[in-house]
Amino acid sequence: MNATLHTIVRPDVLAMQRYAVADATGLIKLDAMENPFPLPAALAAELGERLAGVALNRYPAPRPAAVLDKLRARMGVPAHADVLLGNGSDELISIVSVALSKPGAVALAPVPSFVMYEISARLAHLDFVGVPLRDDFSLDADAICAAIDTHRPALVYLPYPNNPTGNLFDDAQIERVLRAARGALVVIDEAYQPFAQRSWMSRVGEFDNLVVMRTVSKLGLAGIRLGYLAGPPDWVAELDKVRPPYNVNVLTQATADFMLDHLDVLDAQAATLRDAREALVDALASIPDVRVFPSAANFVLVRVPDASHAFETLLGRGVLVKNVSKMHAQLSNCLRLTVGTPDENAQMLAAMAAALKA
Ligand code: PMP
Repeated sequence: MNATLHTIVRPDVLAMQRYAVADATGLIKLDAMENPFPLPAALAAELGERLAGVALNRYPAPRPAAVLDKLRARMGVPAHADVLLGNGSDELISIVSVALSKPGAVALAPVPSFVMYEISARLAHLDFVGVPLRDDFSLDADAICAAIDTHRPALVYLPYPNNPTGNLFDDAQIERVLRAARGALVVIDEAYQPFAQRSWMSRVGEFDNLVVMRTVSKLGLAGIRLGYLAGPPDWVAELDKVRPPYNVNVLTQATADFMLDHLDVLDAQAATLRDAREALVDALASIPDVRVFPSAANFVLVRVPDASHAFETLLGRGVLVKNVSKMHAQLSNCLRLTVGTPDENAQMLAAMAAALKA
């Protein structure tokens, strides 16, 4: 036991668990909402040539004009909005938390939802208020508006669609929350937008406290770590002060610059995954004892009689999924299944059928 360490590290950090990432070596990886398709070889080769020309001895541009211009144009960012880039949207969540972490400030989110909202909030010394979803995982706007009244949060997260439940919240309910949260920054998190094909992006600017956050991770570029946030310029200017200098590295910038010219490839892969999701939902629904929840994302939440047993059986058959049962009481016996290639999905389904028979 290192006495110094235990004396000086924050007690809440000492008590924390690290964000565990399972070892997927040799497994069919359906645990982390990645796009399972690699880049076509010719495109990868062209990208390789582009990356070979990147100067590694220089720091990255803090506001890379080409990437920002292309993101604006291709992702429908309104002309009056500004864009902040992050090392994944994880970093943007952290930046927002730090920028708003005045003593006593509160971050509020529906729960269950993305765990980093709470982790980043607490690390930044914000209090976190989680407002339970309804039993069908829809947004409880009454409860959220009441909680906003009570806690006066500085920060409200609305994932659209939600992780790990996969559903899209109702637009009218979101609009109610937006109007109730006038004293807060509202972050609509559209990490899964390529699979939902619905967005609040065009409404940035209509509410002076609304920002929309996205990532290229689920679209097929999880490895480069690039998130972006679009919002009113005065908000982006304040958040930009908290951003670590040079947070988006040169290889990520060059890859994003290149891939934003080839979005058709990633969009086609997303379309394939949307079709595969529908097929997967139907196939899962036909397995007795599996309850399938509606999904607008590239993963499907299911409830099974015994999630630990199903998880272990799948693992034994070489398929890694995410057991989210322990995350929240409403997720008891739930597994989150990322949509993979047709072949991966077939193997997962076979393993699931076997798990439920045994
Ligand atoms: N938001 C949501 C809702 C997510 O599910 C995730 C990834 N699991 C993220 C943000 C973070 O994405 P990234 O850091 O890869 O951009």
